[in-house]
Amino acid sequence: MRPDILNPLFAETATLDGVGPKLQKPLDKLGLTRVKDVAYHLPERFVTRRPVENLDAASEGEQIVIALTPTEHRAPRSGRGPYRVLAQDAVGNVCALTYFGRASYTAKKQLPVGEKRWVAGRLDRYGDMLQIVHPDHVSEEGDNALGQLCEPVYALSEGLTQPKVASLVEQALARLPELPEWIEPGQFARQKWPAWADALKLAHKDEHAAARERLAYDELLANSLALMLVRADNRRRRGQPLQGDGALRAKLQLPFPLTGAQKRSTAEIEGDLAQEAPMLRLLQGDVGAGKTVVALEAMLIAVEAGRQAALLAPTEILARQHFETLRAMARPTGVEIALLTGRDKGRARESILMGLMDGSIDIVVGTHAIFQESVAYRDLALVVIDEQHRFGVAQRLQLAGKGRRTPHILAMTATPIPRTLTLAQYGEMDVSRLDEMPPGRQAIDTRVVAQERLQDVAEAVGRHIAGGQQAYWVCPMVREHESEDIAAAEARYATLRERFGDTVVLVHGQLKPELKDAAMERFARGEAKLLVATTVIEVGVDVPAATLMVIEQAERFGLAQLHQLRGRVGRGSEKSTCLLLRADALSETGRERLALMRETQDGFRLAEEDLRLRGGGELLGTRQSGDTPFRVATLDQIQRLLPLAHDDARLLMERDGGLEGERGTAARVLLYLFERDWGVQLLRGG
Ligand code: ADP
Ligand code: MG
Repeated sequence: MRPDILNPLFAETATLDGVGPKLQKPLDKLGLTRVKDVAYHLPERFVTRRPVENLDAASEGEQIVIALTPTEHRAPRSGRGPYRVLAQDAVGNVCALTYFGRASYTAKKQLPVGEKRWVAGRLDRYGDMLQIVHPDHVSEEGDNALGQLCEPVYALSEGLTQPKVASLVEQALARLPELPEWIEPGQFARQKWPAWADALKLAHKDEHAAARERLAYDELLANSLALMLVRADNRRRRGQPLQGDGALRAKLQLPFPLTGAQKRSTAEIEGDLAQEAPMLRLLQGDVGAGKTVVALEAMLIAVEAGRQAALLAPTEILARQHFETLRAMARPTGVEIALLTGRDKGRARESILMGLMDGSIDIVVGTHAIFQESVAYRDLALVVIDEQHRFGVAQRLQLAGKGRRTPHILAMTATPIPRTLTLAQYGEMDVSRLDEMPPGRQAIDTRVVAQERLQDVAEAVGRHIAGGQQAYWVCPMVREHESEDIAAAEARYATLRERFGDTVVLVHGQLKPELKDAAMERFARGEAKLLVATTVIEVGVDVPAATLMVIEQAERFGLAQLHQLRGRVGRGSEKSTCLLLRADALSETGRERLALMRETQDGFRLAEEDLRLRGGGELLGTRQSGDTPFRVATLDQIQRLLPLAHDDARLLMERDGGLEGERGTAARVLLYLFERDWGVQLLRGG
């Protein structure tokens, strides 16, 4: 149960003054559903405005405060277009105050013709007229409302204004309870951080570094603690120790010796499986590093021990591919492997379900369908999860119920993330790293090409497929809606198809699974020569004869993502090429990032560099959603503060009595505040 002291923070945003049904949608869009979300809606930046006597004293692009007198209201002529209020400064210069959408109602009320108002906002030019779009403030007095020169700027959504958000924030901050201190006293004193409530208030007032640090630290600490609780919980659970006799593994006739890294990882896994506490291990290895064989070895151990294993893939395509690969590799062992996806219906499905229940199927490969309610196992002892990052801790905990005892878990990821982020993301797991590529991998010739040379690129693709080889063409996910990305990919597909005929296929996330698989299969069989795709091919797909990859708008991708995409080629014996198409105008960092892609193929190095490049250039409060589990902490803060938070969490768990005692109680509050409450729940489940 959430501690009562947090109740005011978890009250709905609708309980704040001035939040009616109309504001609900824009607030939801920003994720501001509860008071706490509003309090944690930290400014993206701060502006300092300059009060000016008249427009001659201001320059375009500048944030100003100025006295203006409205002279005329101009409604848009057609239904669309902005609402403009023309206004004069003290010496007769004209400026337009421009409003889009519903904001015009505000304008009508706030700017009566002939009455002087103080207006704050950014001065721009529109054609030959000066304008301020959506002034941040309009006030009858210059001094009290606008005298505050340093102001927060919040992320907005359609229907919200800065003053509106500021007023909600103010109300949210007024409701902050006094929370007990959860930071270790020594740490707290050393860092000279403000207390929690003060930190939140300060962080909204100006660029208060210590306040921001503290808030980030809280989030990191909550995360570390929660992961540690999962770890501790896992250690207490009873799994089934699995001892294989090696009989099946000896029958595998691999056409290659395992790399040192593969041997080491396999041994680590074998060691874990032999324990009673269930394994919780992450196998981290670049695309092509050879994770599948390691997974197979692990699953064979389970089968040797007379139990079952399951491999969970993120998509149907990947499930199918894993199934084919594993079946081929495992054929000499005689082990029974089945494929189960959401598409299996009727008799086929029934017979697989029977096989899982009576144990005649040893290994099942599939999508989430393999863990549906209706699927029962005779004795599931090991679950391998491919591409762990799409599978959260909470989901994984549900899995625990599937075996007779808690199954061992091996998670695999091809995203070579830096060590600090590994700790943040997977801190509850032990990690095996495949940091050595199988021998004989050829370097991929990577080139950066300007987008304007698209015609040349298309010709090169033409020559490539005329010569009998295959190619990928990747269209980026960059627009606001997935449908726009798909539209862009479809348009590209149409032009390429016009040129190359029906040897071109298209794959994207909204395609029906049958169509997607059919397209993939045509490509995998070599009937289709060019695969146009959005980033759905990012993970796993293996077509060794594809030796050319074109990536449009490469500068829009993260390095790790580019690296993963590129890993689709260079899988066969032929030399491969990757063409990174870039926009004409590139930032310095953009240039540096693409240069790195040319320079190295080491995924772990790219991940570290990516973090460095982004961390350094990161603006206050901006972050790439999705690549860290954090809302407050920036990449830079994660790197600096996470190791501290991790140690702090460990001290609490190991020295200071866990979640009992005074600090422990405070730590519980922290976990609930950051909604890592599954951490606490595990404790009680104990
Ligand atoms: P990952 O899943 O890590 O991206 P895969 O398991 O698909 O990589 O392996 C990539 C390719 O490398 C496969 O064709 C596989 O057969 C091959 N391979 C794996 N291990 C070795 C090895 N030790 N030596 C040579 N080739 C290997
Ligand atoms: Mg793989």
